Amino acid sequence: MSTTPTTTTSEPTGAPVVALGTPLVGGSHTRTHGHGTAGLEAVEAERAERLAAVREGRLGSVHSWELVTAVDGPGTRLTVFLSGCPLRCLYCHNPDTMEMRRGTDVSADEILAKVARYRGVFRATGGGLTISGGEPLMQPAFVRRLVRGAAAMGVPVAIDTSGFLGAHADDELLDDVDLVLLDVKSGLPDTYRRVTGRELQPTLDLGRRLGARGTRMWVRFVLVPGLTDDPENVAAVADHVVSFGPAVERVEVLPFHQMGRDKWDELGMRYELTDTEPPSPEATEAVREVFRARGLTTF
Ligand code: SF4
Repeated sequence: MSTTPTTTTSEPTGAPVVALGTPLVGGSHTRTHGHGTAGLEAVEAERAERLAAVREGRLGSVHSWELVTAVDGPGTRLTVFLSGCPLRCLYCHNPDTMEMRRGTDVSADEILAKVARYRGVFRATGGGLTISGGEPLMQPAFVRRLVRGAAAMGVPVAIDTSGFLGAHADDELLDDVDLVLLDVKSGLPDTYRRVTGRELQPTLDLGRRLGARGTRMWVRFVLVPGLTDDPENVAAVADHVVSFGPAVERVEVLPFHQMGRDKWDELGMRYELTDTEPPSPEATEAVREVFRARGLTTF
């Protein structure tokens, strides 16, 4: 999941959006029609090979990627946005990543080749690979392959997740992850459900598990007037974050914005926050103080 306050479809400075147009395996353009049983067998074989590649994590559904600095982790990052998300956040600024079918098949090898190309930049800036979405843990086998491949090159890896599918991240995968960007979308279960359509508990479970393992975390919370800014909700988020322990390096309070609004319209989806204004700088700062008062480093 991404709460990064930028859109994910924009072209990054100096980096082209990856050529995602051609599915590597499968796709109707390669299908054989009108050749009787032989044609059908070829289609079936192609489908079986694609499923095997997805199951083994050789192939994933990818929305886009961009090269960014100062967001999604330290240094210069290659952020890969995977398609598919089980949440339906009312403020989502990338609703086009919600459905996995909207993504494009991309091989793990193709992404890892890009990681290899930027290795020098990552080393010079303290950056690395960030796997975001959507929700990356919708595709755990693919994430595992990317994480393993990057770690083998000595490139630090961050995962940007809501934590809802934290159970998909086993210890072996987490061993290769340097940083988890954990989005805590609300502190009260009812508010969390209203914001995301899902339950809060799995996020708390992942935060505490990461804390117990000592996996570094940057927690992110989006402040939405009238939705997440109730003092009780903010205090609950802060208390949960404290319960994750000292592995939490920082908390980022991100003011809500309307930058994703047009995408909801384009997708024909109902956007509920049309009349919601961004929080004032003072209100955002006041919320940051709630976290700081608990000893958390907050931006
Ligand atoms: S629905 Fe929520 S978790 Fe999913 S991509 Fe959008 S903001 Fe992220």
